[in-house]
Amino acid sequence: MSDFGGAPSIKVDSVSKVYAGGKRALTDVSFEVEAGSFMVLLGPSGSGKSTLIRCIAGLERVSEGTIQFGSKTVSSKGLHLKSEERELSMVFQDYALWPHMTALDNVAFALKRRALPKSQRKTQAISMLDRMGLMHLSDRYPQELSGGEQQRVALARALVARPGLMLFDEPLSNLDADLRERLRVEISTLTREVGATTLYITHDQSEAFALADYVGVLDRGRLVQLDRPEVLYSKPKTPFVARFTGLAGDLPAVVNSVESSRSVVSALDGSSWLSAHSNVPLKMGEKVRILVRAAAVKMAPLLASGVDRERETLSGTVSDVAFRGIGYEHVVQVSDGHVLSGIFSERRHSRGTAVLLSFDPDGCILFPEKSGDESLITLEDQDQSQLTDETCFEASQSIS
Ligand code: ADP
Repeated sequence: MSDFGGAPSIKVDSVSKVYAGGKRALTDVSFEVEAGSFMVLLGPSGSGKSTLIRCIAGLERVSEGTIQFGSKTVSSKGLHLKSEERELSMVFQDYALWPHMTALDNVAFALKRRALPKSQRKTQAISMLDRMGLMHLSDRYPQELSGGEQQRVALARALVARPGLMLFDEPLSNLDADLRERLRVEISTLTREVGATTLYITHDQSEAFALADYVGVLDRGRLVQLDRPEVLYSKPKTPFVARFTGLAGDLPAVVNSVESSRSVVSALDGSSWLSAHSNVPLKMGEKVRILVRAAAVKMAPLLASGVDRERETLSGTVSDVAFRGIGYEHVVQVSDGHVLSGIFSERRHSRGTAVLLSFDPDGCILFPEKSGDESLITLEDQDQSQLTDETCFEASQSIS
């Protein structure tokens, strides 16, 4: 049993990191990963993901703040437990297997710190390799294995000691799409099977949503939102979070009226209206942007009979179409040069087809037009209840 008491929680409190030379990588990051849960940190390149996970792993020192595993402090300004003292397993993007050891020895070596006879270490390593479908490769050296095979050995090595705490640093980035999907499922299943507390970093939103109990979004070294994937998707706190979790596009509009449960805005040409909701208070007449999720848009040919032409529709022209196996994704040009992409239809609508788009208000999110860098902080600092209560609006006049 670990010094940290089985699977510990991870508590990160007001952590900042400034590298030698003055580069600030993290600012005042706080969150907690509950014992036995799976959290993903999501952010673009340079947002501070690696720095944060390396601080948690003990590979970097924090500049400010504290990190605790359970009730035990492992990092603070004056304290830094070494990585090997933290009782965690880590899986890296580049596999990091020991090149002079076979697959079996790599896995068995992870048990070295356990007070087990050598034969028992070997039996457990064989059993884990078998569980991962790698037995036939057990005598191979890393350079004799493909990238996917190496990463599965690395995963077996990380899991064999049944760690309470597992850290994953973009482990699927170097793999082909097909293998990525399979290994993602294995990581999800196996970490939950051993009951580990897991922290996983990625820049891939679909990977984050598929794996996580909770997703934290990092933007330039700040944690801007931490929520369940479903909440991140339906109630993004900032335009950055909305964009980074997948949008068809965004459209300019003006708030016309504020209702109790939803807002109605005019989009683009003054005669078209869209209902949308906002998680932040907006004023009448305020210039806004409607951030549109692709799943909220339905498309039909303009001339099709039976199309509901209520006001919540926009007309447009297909400018691109891509086959996606189960159907087609379209890029649609709407008025004033605005473009919505990823619009799904089971039928192919060829380039140049005039179409009518209808919108589900739940996938249309309003933010003030000037939601730039400054407003990230303003919105982030809002009271949580304010952010989750849908505030509603009606907007009237178009802008371009
Ligand atoms: P991510 O993992 O999200 O790509 P990183 O944590 O690697 O982000 O980097 C965050 C910021 O810190 C970047 O601007 C990066 O250039 C900088 N950075 C990372 N490592 C170092 C370092 N050892 N020294 C100085 N700056 C660094």
